[in-house]
Amino acid sequence: MAKINSNFKNLSKNYLFSEIDKRVKLYLAAHPRAKIFNLGVGNTTEPIVHAVIKGLKRKVGELGRRETYTGYGNFQGDMILREALSKWYRKRGLKISPSEIFISDGAKSDCANISSIFAPDSRVAICDPVYPVYRDANLLAGKKLIYLAAKEENGFFPSLPEEKADLIFLCSPNNPTGAAAKASQLREFVDYAIKNKAIIIFDAAYSEYIQEKEFPKSIYQIEGSRKCAIEIQSLSKSAGFTGIRLGWTIVPNGLRTEDALGEGEINRLWRRRQSTMFNGASNIAQEGGLAVFSEAGQKETQKQIKYYLENANLIKEELERLKLKVFGGVNAPYLWVKCPGGLSSWEFFDKLLKETQVICTPGAGFGICGEGYVRFSAFAKREEIKKGVESIKKNLYL
Ligand code: PLP
Repeated sequence: MAKINSNFKNLSKNYLFSEIDKRVKLYLAAHPRAKIFNLGVGNTTEPIVHAVIKGLKRKVGELGRRETYTGYGNFQGDMILREALSKWYRKRGLKISPSEIFISDGAKSDCANISSIFAPDSRVAICDPVYPVYRDANLLAGKKLIYLAAKEENGFFPSLPEEKADLIFLCSPNNPTGAAAKASQLREFVDYAIKNKAIIIFDAAYSEYIQEKEFPKSIYQIEGSRKCAIEIQSLSKSAGFTGIRLGWTIVPNGLRTEDALGEGEINRLWRRRQSTMFNGASNIAQEGGLAVFSEAGQKETQKQIKYYLENANLIKEELERLKLKVFGGVNAPYLWVKCPGGLSSWEFFDKLLKETQVICTPGAGFGICGEGYVRFSAFAKREEIKKGVESIKKNLYL
């Protein structure tokens, strides 16, 4: 008899975005002529930059010719792309060998799959509020979760776990709070991980939004972290690859658990896992990814990141002018806004929708500590941001 994984019962109803849709639809049914401004979602809106389009087209052309057609590639990713990434890190003063880089179809699947190489009884620390995949993937695998509260009083970066954690998921700059971790904060976690023989899984999907030097773009900027950390990356938010799909995971050679045999054990285990369960990222996506790391690609994508950060700044300035408490949005595309007058996340969501027709994302949907906050996102067209912000300015009754 087939039976489902009973851990499914531990997942909460995934209702955040469907509930938002439902409330917006209800509102539109009552106000069919209303114009809605969506400042809540984390989906990119700017077109792929020219240099990358050139790369994508080049590969498509090659695939259409017998002499240049290629099928399956290396499951770990094209060596040329891994070498380009290694060089990119070297320019940042970090030594990452191509053998430590595993190209993926995006960060989300790796965030979920990485747990599979660790023991089922691992205790996994995650932040609250949290990007939901860390929570749900580990719950499904039957692992025990330890929630680390990320609150205003700790700058939305959690304190060290009080009970012993084996795996620790960290995300900086953070989705949903927009907070970036300082080197000293990451240092504490690296020291904890080394002392407790824990492994940090560091999600750096928003690293390119970091503008201020005191915030590391990679966990490997912290000395000793190669002994305790895996880093997950993505081109989704830094180059608009949300639809194309490309990311990578770094598993340092020499990273090992106490019970593992020999050097490079976790790298070997991840290679073993990926070689049977993943057939490699799309070759078209990889050629596009390679173009991101060309000189022109870097220049053009940096410009796009600046555009989104200007969006974030527009939202931040206006909300602050209204005396709302706004966090993030400086080194991240997300703003974390305290609901005024003690409103709950959903109450403020409804108020914004009804009075201003602006959609945000209720913080409560990311965890208990997200209650009382909402997330604004800079991923929208400038016009939409301007109109949304204008509507808040004119119509929000505080
Ligand atoms: N990590 C974080 C923190 C994210 O917010 C997202 C997407 O929103 C991802 C990973 C997923 O990235 P990808 O599109 O590469 O799967």
